[in-house]
Amino acid sequence: MWIDTHCHLDAPEFDADRDAVRQQARAAGVDRCVLPAVQRRDWPGVQALASRHGDGYALGIHPLYVPAAQDEDLQALDVALTQSRGDPRLLAVGEIGLDFFVPALCTPPMRERQWRFYLAQLQLARQHGLPVILHVRRSADLLLKGLRQIGVAGGIAHAFNGSAQQARAFVDLGFALGFGGAMSFERATALRRLACSLPTDALVLETDAPDIPPQWLYRSAADRAAGAPQGRNSPAELPRIAQVLATLRGLDAPALAQATTANALRVLPRLQALVA
Ligand SMILES: [Zn+2]
Repeated sequence: MWIDTHCHLDAPEFDADRDAVRQQARAAGVDRCVLPAVQRRDWPGVQALASRHGDGYALGIHPLYVPAAQDEDLQALDVALTQSRGDPRLLAVGEIGLDFFVPALCTPPMRERQWRFYLAQLQLARQHGLPVILHVRRSADLLLKGLRQIGVAGGIAHAFNGSAQQARAFVDLGFALGFGGAMSFERATALRRLACSLPTDALVLETDAPDIPPQWLYRSAADRAAGAPQGRNSPAELPRIAQVLATLRGLDAPALAQATTANALRVLPRLQALVA
């Protein structure tokens, strides 16, 4: 059994064939997906989608959506988390975090706004007793500072691409690190080294579909200029992405599936009720 711990199945890229995409993933052995929401208006859709396919979800405001978000969305998140308290599919607060890669998010006012939304959502996670799913992009140290300041019940640092020292700091705070298609590129030597050196119990698998296409779906800028569309990532790619990690670590796929599933259930404890 595989768990895709980070999949945006509600994204518009899947509007034409969403149910078929989920079915293909199931046929490939992906039993459960975790669907993190990125903005307030998507919360009901993510909840309905998770319910339709037996999956889990997280509610939150993604840093890339902070510029368009309203302050009252934070109160709305509190209300939504309260209303969903009895829903076993609610697994975490997410996707939240900080993005210091996108230039428009790096201006001083936008850094300050991201930080405020991040801290407020950590507070809500703590208040509701939920773990968090974190977007980490050139922001690991500040994310760690927020976690130490507020104190939440762990979670997942998704699409992790930081240093070994930052990885250890997340693990020490009760987090697992999400690995996906980025490590399928041979040139990703630092990330591959990290994926090999971390203890097995620190790892969870994810696709981040439709984003982060693995190497076999990726079309270069030159390919795209010649008319080839960028490949669409999907949760059905998870076993093949997992095989990359299994090979890097010298494990067989069933052992990796068992270990990463146990890790996902540990850092997202409410998942246990969904796989029982
Ligand atoms: Zn995401």
